[in-house]
Amino acid sequence: MLIVLAAAFGLLIGSFLNVVVHRLPLGASVATGRSECPACHHRIRAYDNVPVLSWLVLRGRCRDCGAPISARYPLVEAATAVLWALVAAVADDTVDVVLGLVLVTALVPITLIDLDHRRIPNAITLPTAVIALVAGTALDPGGELGRVASALGAAVFLLIPAMVRPDGMGIGDVKLAGVLGLCLGPAVAVALLVALLSGSLFGLALAARSGVERARKTQIPFGPYLAFGGVVAIVAGRPVIDAYLNNF
Ligand SMILES: [Zn+2]
Repeated sequence: MLIVLAAAFGLLIGSFLNVVVHRLPLGASVATGRSECPACHHRIRAYDNVPVLSWLVLRGRCRDCGAPISARYPLVEAATAVLWALVAAVADDTVDVVLGLVLVTALVPITLIDLDHRRIPNAITLPTAVIALVAGTALDPGGELGRVASALGAAVFLLIPAMVRPDGMGIGDVKLAGVLGLCLGPAVAVALLVALLSGSLFGLALAARSGVERARKTQIPFGPYLAFGGVVAIVAGRPVIDAYLNNF
């Protein structure tokens, strides 16, 4: 029941995240202004703005001018719903649910904006960090010190490669690592490991397919890997950290 509810809220949140991804890099307000068709500028009617469903009913076309509407919109809504349901399914106490939802909600627009514009906006990482700090402190005061320490550790860990090779990793990635630490606590280690592994594997696959030179020139932002690592850590981070601490 809780999972279904989380998925339904996730759809609505995903619909808002589409607006964030579209407007935030342009410096436009995400709170005001109605959505319109970029081709004919007709306002999008409320009944054509239902997450996923409207896109399917309209078969991916504007009702007024027939211009195609990117499949990315319903995909972002569906992905956010899946991530919300996932957090509701795996988190076992309130603080984990809240911090998990805060994190996945930030990771969706961060991933897309980093892929589109190769930057991670402070306008997302900063408020997410503040919300995570306040919510973490309020819901689990005893664990906050550990989460802050994890955030600092994760940020410092990425600060070195970001300074050595600023073309491969940026200060936005360092801040994102801090946000991951504030939401995940010690499980952020799993997120960083998965991010580095998946990033390296993808780089190797690219080098094998199109040559080392081209792979070096094809810059892939690191944010999406960190986001992927974050989701893996939400699902598997706690058991991995516990197993590690029990065995060593
Ligand atoms: Zn139109």
